[in-house]
Amino acid sequence: MPSAKARDNKALVATCVACGKNFSPEAMVALAGRVEGRARSYPVCVACAEGGWRPPGFDGIYGYRPS
Ligand SMILES: [Zn+2]
Repeated sequence: MPSAKARDNKALVATCVACGKNFSPEAMVALAGRVEGRARSYPVCVACAEGGWRPPGFDGIYGYRPS
């Protein structure tokens, strides 16, 4: 369930790192990658994630961003 804070803020958007479009955070997932030995989280839209986009060093976890 989205938080009341996120629902009230209509301007809140996040940019998909794969396609560069803006989405509401509820429409995105965070994929865990690894760059130079450090874990990184890559926000991508559901369409890109479902389409097979994966970040560099993707470690196999594909889950909805916790809210
Ligand atoms: Zn995308």
